[in-house]
Amino acid sequence: MFDEAAEPTLAYAERQDRADGLARFREAFYLKPGTVYMDGNSLGLLSKPAERTFLEALEDWKEYGIDGWTRGRHPWFALSERLGGMMAGLVGADADEVIVTGSATVNLHQLVATFYRPHGARTKLLADELNFPSDLYALQSQLAVRGFDPDGSLVCVKSPDGRFLDEDAIIEAMTEEIALIVLPSVLYRSGQLLDMERLTADARRRGIPIGFDCCHSVGAVPHAFDAWGVDFAFWCSYKHLNGGPGCPGGLYVNRRHLGTRPGLAGWFGSRKDRQFDMASSLTPAESAGAYQIGTPHVLSLAPLIGALGLVGEAGIEAIRRKSLGLTRYLMGLIGQELAGFGFRIGSPVEDARRGGHVGLEHDEAARICKALKERGNVPDFRAPNMIRLAPAALYTSYREVWDVVQVLRDIMEKQAFKAYPNERDIVA
Ligand SMILES: *Cc1c(COP(=O)(O)O)cnc(C)c1O
Repeated sequence: MFDEAAEPTLAYAERQDRADGLARFREAFYLKPGTVYMDGNSLGLLSKPAERTFLEALEDWKEYGIDGWTRGRHPWFALSERLGGMMAGLVGADADEVIVTGSATVNLHQLVATFYRPHGARTKLLADELNFPSDLYALQSQLAVRGFDPDGSLVCVKSPDGRFLDEDAIIEAMTEEIALIVLPSVLYRSGQLLDMERLTADARRRGIPIGFDCCHSVGAVPHAFDAWGVDFAFWCSYKHLNGGPGCPGGLYVNRRHLGTRPGLAGWFGSRKDRQFDMASSLTPAESAGAYQIGTPHVLSLAPLIGALGLVGEAGIEAIRRKSLGLTRYLMGLIGQELAGFGFRIGSPVEDARRGGHVGLEHDEAARICKALKERGNVPDFRAPNMIRLAPAALYTSYREVWDVVQVLRDIMEKQAFKAYPNERDIVA
């Protein structure tokens, strides 16, 4: 039973695996024998359905040439809208409020260009100092192109400990100077899940539009954007959604804003029946499709068709339940098996505040990661001192979580990490 309190033993892992209703999904993925993959929050693995839809898209090109836009198994012209519909349930939205397009950073640019409306004393952007760097770069450059000082006009809520954010402090920063708020759903290092419902309610009470970067939550955590009244959100599809490297991300715009003209316009934002009128001014789609810019990256989208099918079949509630079970067990094992080796858990222990991964801090983290990797375990490293471990509900077993912690213990007992330099690789 998943509700059983996590007990840090091998027998517990074996019981959980036997009772795992998602166990069958593991076979759908390309897992390397002898390797435990714990990096699905950086790049999810390839599945057989994703491979199939990718090959089908290539076949359609081979078979139909230009007519692939409207013919074949996955006609390209409405593919972004179709995928938006497949993702809508993951974020608690209607199909027409979600479009699959762009990268997370490009979507952030689009959404800020659309919803940042400085007026009177309200000119500043509110974010946080733990935000993903690309988001901060995008916000700074959006301020600069509007003629504002990128540093002075970007208010970043401070973290008291470098790991977590305090919702009260964020709400306190929602002052009369703030024109727009952009926050992460799940922090990419510590895995803290912010209370998006509460933050949205407070922002709306003050009349400030609020949007979330959901790169680390979509596919791992359920969302209820419509019910919460979130203004907009964006995310990538190559992490917990397993869409593949370079797969386009998603973008959500609340229904009350549909019809708002896109800040960055392009012909793929047209009403679909008007796009090929080739008019000299844009007639935007009445859906989130309006915020597309140029031609969709069809071949990069194609694996997502199969990948999203798996997530949909498993169901996001079941994925969340198992994901929490895995990370709870992992933290219990760390507490018991790695005590005395200088590790600190850098993630929230409360289920309601934790996303899909666990951050493990250690002064020697960079080289402990290298030692883990060389022993067939794939974590990732975030400078200066964090090992991130992401057991994926669709393809990680409890037994693998046990195994990784045993390998970690062996590395520490034998001090095997000392054979490696304590520095990060180019891609960490
Ligand atoms: C992975 C990630 C991104 C990546 O943005 P891209 O534009 O897809 O490169 C952005 N924000 C967060 C929080 C992320 O975790």
